[in-house]
Amino acid sequence: MIVESGSGAHPYYMLRKPRKITKERLEHLLRVLAKLHRADAAASRATRLMRVPNTYNWKTGSRKLARVRYFSRRGYSLKKLEALWNRPTLDLERKSKQPGQIGMGKHATFFSEHLKKFVLPEGSSEARALCPFHDDHKPSLSINVSTGRWKCFAEACGARGDLREFCKRLAISPPASEIKRFPRERTIPEGEEWSSRRIFDAMYSHITSHIYFTQSWQPVVAILWAMGSYLYQQFPCYGHLWLNSPTTHSGKTKMLEVLWTLCYKALEPQLEPTPAALFRFPSVFGGTLLLDEIDNLDPEKRSAVISVLNSYASNGVVTRAVPGKNKKFTLEKLPVYCPKVIAGINNLPGTLQDRCIKIFLHRKKKSESVERFLPGTYQRLEPLRNQLEAWAVRDEQRIIEAYGDRDQLGVPSVADDRLRDILEPLFAIASVLPKWISEKLAEGTLTIAEERSAEEAESNAVVLGLQVLREHMPREGESWPVRTDEALALFSEEIPSIETKAQAQALMRRLGFKSERQRVGKKVLRAYRVHRRRVQKLSERYGLEH
Ligand SMILES: [Zn+2]
Repeated sequence: MIVESGSGAHPYYMLRKPRKITKERLEHLLRVLAKLHRADAAASRATRLMRVPNTYNWKTGSRKLARVRYFSRRGYSLKKLEALWNRPTLDLERKSKQPGQIGMGKHATFFSEHLKKFVLPEGSSEARALCPFHDDHKPSLSINVSTGRWKCFAEACGARGDLREFCKRLAISPPASEIKRFPRERTIPEGEEWSSRRIFDAMYSHITSHIYFTQSWQPVVAILWAMGSYLYQQFPCYGHLWLNSPTTHSGKTKMLEVLWTLCYKALEPQLEPTPAALFRFPSVFGGTLLLDEIDNLDPEKRSAVISVLNSYASNGVVTRAVPGKNKKFTLEKLPVYCPKVIAGINNLPGTLQDRCIKIFLHRKKKSESVERFLPGTYQRLEPLRNQLEAWAVRDEQRIIEAYGDRDQLGVPSVADDRLRDILEPLFAIASVLPKWISEKLAEGTLTIAEERSAEEAESNAVVLGLQVLREHMPREGESWPVRTDEALALFSEEIPSIETKAQAQALMRRLGFKSERQRVGKKVLRAYRVHRRRVQKLSERYGLEH
């Protein structure tokens, strides 16, 4: 049972039947347990009492209700608990903390397993072995087993690097000690866990029964993303999920609600988040952030939101002025790394688009029926979220290993580096799931990559078109009439994607110029009126103004 005490969590293990044991034996067991859970060692005294659920905790001065967070009827035998907890790993941990031994030879075992003729002189941290990176006959590789750095002294080879590089070159997984795990409690007893496939299937039927997707890879990508929200801290960066649509009522808000029920510790979708809440969320709450209708935010808030969204890497921080003592403001650096879903933005700044996996939702036809999102859905799906937490603990290691070996993940080569950055975590997760899921993800990658390059070409055309207009605009006059055939002549010279009148017209419209009847010399013709002020404004926006 886990009791939320109001200022932390208390785990209790129920014995099958009452036992009479010595205080020493109990306290030893409690100390081991505290260590295992990285809990407060003060809690390992026999005189400690249980925080009774449904009573108030007044310890901090304010009233906090103690609640049961997890309960299982499973009872343990004392013998089994002792066997389970007194594992040799705990003894090892104690030994390594003895003075003089810290870090010494940390990686000795690992390197010895992967190298031939490995020799480590006693008391030294410099080992020698045959170099695996050239045809070595006398041990030329020198390895520092405490730092993990290595170097080959053979003249023709000269290979060198660190532990990571070593693993990468030999295509092996790094030692378990190098993989950071973040502590989490298991809320599902072993034996009651679902397989990863069953979890995926449950998510798939939930999401597809509520949302109408036009492409079959879309729900797969959304589910993998939601699964990844339980492991995001293991990745150096985690891209945002961007729900985009041309119209209202295309299911964006509902999709946010559905994701809310699936993602790791998601807050209910936020319609008008305050910037302060946004900045605080990742460090205080550390779950998934769901943001709706950011277009409608007032400009000041919007820019604060964008600055949080611009960060998708684990080392991302924003610097904020916060009121401190004596009403003076101090600067504070706040971490902003967390999984984020954004919906309802029509035009994201280009840099932000690069950090997003876009899911384009179309309005469904009347004939395409989906379920309503009923109140109580969030509560109803709690067992699934618990299964996801257990899955994350269980498959974490395999996923990290797959991610460590990124080149083998099968990410289609059309994806550029930025796209790879945000899709590799999803491919790593798909690697522990049935094969069709990776295949769908690869299919989605192709579409996303195609869309991205089309968008890039379009925005390039806008910038180039603007440049052409600036260069050819007469020095005098507030506006300049440009006929379609003139526009085509100007654009087709400089912009590869413009070859027809229709394309030239489209670009003029994208730049915001309208075709009007107007006097050109003695004749009245249809022409685009190119306003000097608009050209100047656009040039500023695209950084062409010097
Ligand atoms: Zn070598």
